[in-house]
Amino acid sequence: MLGDPVRTVVGERTAKILRTRLDIDTVGDLLRHYPRRYAERGELTDLASLELDEFVTVMAKIDTVSLRPTRPTRGRKGSLLEVVVTDGRGRLRLTFFNQPWRQQELLAGRVGLFSGKVSVFNGKRQLTHPDYVLVSVSADSDEPDGSPRPDGRDAVEAGEATGLEAEADLDTETVAAAAAAFARALIPVYPATQGLNSWQIAKCVGTVLDTLEDLPDPLPGELRARRGLVSLPQAYRLIHRPDSRGDVEAAHERLVFEEAFVLQVELARRRAQTAALPAVARVARPSGLLEAFDARLAFELTAGQVEVGKVIADDLARPHPMHRLLQGEVGSGKTVVAVRAMLAVVDSGGQAALLAPTEVLAQQHFRSIGAMLGPLAERGLLGGTDSGTRLALLTGSLGTAARRQAMLDAASGDAGIVIGTHALLQERVGFFDLGLVVVDEQHRFGVEQRAALSAKGATPPHVLVMTATPIPRTVAMTVFGDLDVSTLTELPAGRSSITTHVVPAGEKPHYVQRAWQRVREEVAAGHQGYVVCPRIGGVEAEGPGDLEPVDEEQRRPSVAVLDLAPELVRGALAGLRVEVLHGRMPPEAKDDVMRRFAAGTLDVLVATTVIEVGVDVPNATVMVVMDADRFGVSQLHQLRGRIGRGSAPGLALLVTEIEAGSAARARLEAVAETLDGFVLSRVDLQTRREGDVLGASQAGKRSSLRLLSVLRDEQVIADARSEAADVVGADAELAAHPALLAALDAYLDAERGDYLEKA
Ligand code: ADP
Ligand code: MG
Repeated sequence: MLGDPVRTVVGERTAKILRTRLDIDTVGDLLRHYPRRYAERGELTDLASLELDEFVTVMAKIDTVSLRPTRPTRGRKGSLLEVVVTDGRGRLRLTFFNQPWRQQELLAGRVGLFSGKVSVFNGKRQLTHPDYVLVSVSADSDEPDGSPRPDGRDAVEAGEATGLEAEADLDTETVAAAAAAFARALIPVYPATQGLNSWQIAKCVGTVLDTLEDLPDPLPGELRARRGLVSLPQAYRLIHRPDSRGDVEAAHERLVFEEAFVLQVELARRRAQTAALPAVARVARPSGLLEAFDARLAFELTAGQVEVGKVIADDLARPHPMHRLLQGEVGSGKTVVAVRAMLAVVDSGGQAALLAPTEVLAQQHFRSIGAMLGPLAERGLLGGTDSGTRLALLTGSLGTAARRQAMLDAASGDAGIVIGTHALLQERVGFFDLGLVVVDEQHRFGVEQRAALSAKGATPPHVLVMTATPIPRTVAMTVFGDLDVSTLTELPAGRSSITTHVVPAGEKPHYVQRAWQRVREEVAAGHQGYVVCPRIGGVEAEGPGDLEPVDEEQRRPSVAVLDLAPELVRGALAGLRVEVLHGRMPPEAKDDVMRRFAAGTLDVLVATTVIEVGVDVPNATVMVVMDADRFGVSQLHQLRGRIGRGSAPGLALLVTEIEAGSAARARLEAVAETLDGFVLSRVDLQTRREGDVLGASQAGKRSSLRLLSVLRDEQVIADARSEAADVVGADAELAAHPALLAALDAYLDAERGDYLEKA
């Protein structure tokens, strides 16, 4: 019955609105259209919380009523009835054009539910032509404490301005539905839409609830009993028609658990499926490349790097594909872990691909991995070892000849390690024997892209994914829940710390001058620095390299690279070797600037976030971030990770015009206060909306994750994960759980894999 179309229970017109405006197709969809909140009988809605353009239902009390004539249009006189409602503190205006008769029922002191879209007129929020139902019969009878308002005057004035026919009254059905809703202590308030208000939706849902029978339950009975969760029909009844807050909680507990559980079962199944696929086991040969590499490594591996290295080596040695996420603090040394894994594969006769999110990063990896490997990566070249391998770089901007050569090296197996951007994903790029795919800085890659690369192996290659920033446990368990997770927690020894300060440009402009002076001091001491701006700027139309969203408050445009750089060269940083770096530059130019900066022949880079991930120049010690409030918390942490990579202490200066006390300023202060990426990832999570965390598909689109929140439900997710692992472990085909299988299908249908595909 849950799969039946809604038109089997509601009228054609309503079914159409449900389908087109609320994405509700089936009876099941309707039951899962949960109340947004509950109005308590006698308790008024907080009017201050209403958002512009939202479709709202508020319980409020009529404060004043006035009717006045409007300017005649085409000879016809008109009227405007203005009703101001209040929650006791805030006020909201309701306007009705040419419906003067409504003043006979919209009397001051009466309480009602008003439903409509919030708009702004003359700087004040209002609902135009709201639907409404009134709770109390008269101004006096239901409001013992409310003294009659002195509003008679307005009404009398208004009376003179009538002269128009009344339009159709509220239909009786609506009144009946509302009356039924009002009989309850808790009145469900549904996400509603034009043409279908909250109490009309309540009526539709009620029709279904009245005939609701036993439903197949995706939660195994034993699990439900053990966890004390209510049955599915019971949950639907309690969430739509609660008698108490306790009812809502019981329903909520069960429904949230179900959402988490279904998701985790899907993830557990994916893990199980991957684990069952065949792959070529890759084991480094004794006295091979990996050993030679370890011997020439200039530093000691950290304990964490050694440990994760062992785990990965074990994974690679199995005849099933590895699917592992390596997360670690910025600068914790993930690259070397990846290189060692790649060398093990090359040692075993296979190839490895390293996928980087940006051209700058791919080029840097190519250079730095080449340097780490030295002669080991120069097979066939003068000075190279015969037992070595070769690196190839494949990016979108290579010239035809270089590109052809790189593709040839990949296809022939000559290049043991192929480094590139998404150009690697193109169909024409083939490998001789692809054994391992490493995806660096995963947050910029979707799973489809990973899958495209994986498909290039004859058998599925092993996959190692590295994240740019530490991710909160809940996100690891959901967005990356199909991967095994390893974490590098310590930074390599001898790394000096980074100090971060907020520079309040608004309150203390001279602090900005001091910031430039600090840059000069670092350069004078032989170091280098970054200046990061939110925008490229310049005369050309700004391309997608400029990530800044259009600001709703029309603040001044943020500082731009192409404006600031010349200014600094003329002024505060005169005499220093300054260059710009941004996404609109041709790749060779970017590469040239990065090379010179890495070689130490440039002092200061004025850049956009192209340097955000991965860029590794240990001699850089200072970073000034302009309009730092325009960046996210994790992004700032990531940016700051570009300094303090060598032995000299790093200094990050976050310049902002935002004044102290605001939320944006508090975020910056949080970044300044701690270097712990895991702490900051939580701060970040709290300041983002759920949809942003889970991927674009969550925003606006129907999702089967309605109640579950990765922000709040960490424990639920963890519990569901372990229950799911047990269920899938005991019965991978879920043969004993037909209802769960059906729920998975519905889930996958709704998401079309989107939720899982987009990280
Ligand atoms: P991230 O984890 O942020 O990608 P990288 O892999 O870029 O970090 O490593 C940051 C820097 O630390 C690099 O210059 C790298 O050579 C260096 N490094 C990595 N491991 C160690 C170690 N065990 N000891 C000293 N330096 C290390
Ligand atoms: Mg890195």
